[in-house]
Amino acid sequence: MADFEKLSGKNFPAAIQLSCAAIIAAFLGLGLFILFLAGGIADKVRLEAESQLVANELDRQVQLLARDQSQVSHWDDTVFALSERIDEAFVREEIAGWLWEDFDIETSIVVSADSKPLVVVERDRVLDPSEGVVFAASVEDLVAVARQNYMTHRRATGGRFVGPDKPLSKHTEMFAADIRQVDGQMGLVMAQAIIPDDEASLPDGAPQVLITFKPVTEELLQTMGKTLGLADFQILHAADVHPDLASMPAAPGAAVALGDAGHPVHAAWTSARPSAMIWKLSAIPMLVLLVLVAGVLIFVARRSAASLSALETSERQNRFLALHDALTGLPNRVQFDRALEDAITAGRYDRCAILCIDLDRFKAVNDTYGHQAGDTVIRTVANRIAETVADAGIAARIGGDEFIVLLHNEIDKDSVSWRCDQLIESVCRPILFEGGTAAVGASIGVAWWPDDALTAKTVIRSADEALYIAKELGRGQAYFAGMPVAAADKAAKPDGGRVPRAVNG
Ligand code: GH3
Ligand code: MG
Repeated sequence: MADFEKLSGKNFPAAIQLSCAAIIAAFLGLGLFILFLAGGIADKVRLEAESQLVANELDRQVQLLARDQSQVSHWDDTVFALSERIDEAFVREEIAGWLWEDFDIETSIVVSADSKPLVVVERDRVLDPSEGVVFAASVEDLVAVARQNYMTHRRATGGRFVGPDKPLSKHTEMFAADIRQVDGQMGLVMAQAIIPDDEASLPDGAPQVLITFKPVTEELLQTMGKTLGLADFQILHAADVHPDLASMPAAPGAAVALGDAGHPVHAAWTSARPSAMIWKLSAIPMLVLLVLVAGVLIFVARRSAASLSALETSERQNRFLALHDALTGLPNRVQFDRALEDAITAGRYDRCAILCIDLDRFKAVNDTYGHQAGDTVIRTVANRIAETVADAGIAARIGGDEFIVLLHNEIDKDSVSWRCDQLIESVCRPILFEGGTAAVGASIGVAWWPDDALTAKTVIRSADEALYIAKELGRGQAYFAGMPVAAADKAAKPDGGRVPRAVNG
């Protein structure tokens, strides 16, 4: 019972509602978390794929430039044209005329074994070699790598040297390339050792190197962006990349570092960000699901609260009925016995009187007016008894037309006699009900505790036996246990006990 009370406390329905709210919140939170997580993963995977595509495309651009440039730098004619003295006609036709016109190579510089510019070509114009000094110096590192590659992969032939069989192969790659800003312009820089392709050969030592520069033009960026399927594709100097792009590549755009550490360059673009699509597509189903779950939970919460409240009411009723009489609301036998036993055990009273009351000829009311009228009479009599006893004691209904009273205040013989008279008088007053008026009488048996009996049980029995005698003596009177019958007769009312009757209204 205690557990039930705890559970069915007023807070329980609130707890159910709170739990449902928590479940809805958890559902929403989990949904958002999953979407957030899925979006994040999708963005990351997509960005990695985009970055890989960018890297591949730039590698392809480098390979293309390497292949284009190698048509000049890996050629016997070039070796011959540049070996002893510079063949200016060759420079004009093959370098200026070919590299610029056919391959959009804007700057071509040939540097000697000791890195001095020998040939400088800007688009289709051959310039003085001194004009290439700054440019050559800014790509010195690439020239060094190209030379190193040549030294690694060259093959000796009769005291002289030639390049590797496949100078463009990944294994014997001869070039050094980078994307970097040179003289304020972004472009692909390529350095290749000038080597023969057939019959010519080179002496021992560092080779001449052909450096080319192909600018990254707006047109090239657009073509690359289109090929890659990336919006706003750009190649920028690291300093020009928005810090958000560099540190948070997934939002709002993306950037990957290119070039070497000394010349940091980034490719940047606006990433497709599939998370936005995921959120967009999931919003409505998620909302519908949430409304459904919330609806079900609210329904369950309300139903549970209603069931609990009904259960609580029924439990309260059961508890009440366990100790009270259903018809009159007075304490019942169980409660009365318990109260008397508790009081005796606790030594609460020095003395008390037990009154057993039984209505006289009550059956006649039932027989004449029906059971419902009988119920009304019992309820009315119960109220009158309770009012008459008031706070002088406890009144209980213990059977059909039987009541029992415990008097513990003002309990000398006279006051108890007086209370009995009051009780009989109050019960005898006519009772009005729908369809008529009834009048019943009452007989009372009185026993004293501890004078007549020492326990609750025995004192009630004594009062019951006294009631029997009161009935025997003619009803409508109180009989005190142990009182001589003759005295009782005298104590009886002058009318010899009201003749219980039903009075037709
Ligand atoms: P007596 O004077 O000897 O007491 O006779 P009585 O007519 O009062 O009848 P008795 O006390 O022997 O029996 C009580 C009757 O009360 C029996 C039953 O028909 C009736 N009764 C018992 N419980 C109820 C009840 O809850 N409602 C109604 N209407 N009648 C009841
Ligand atoms: Mg009776």
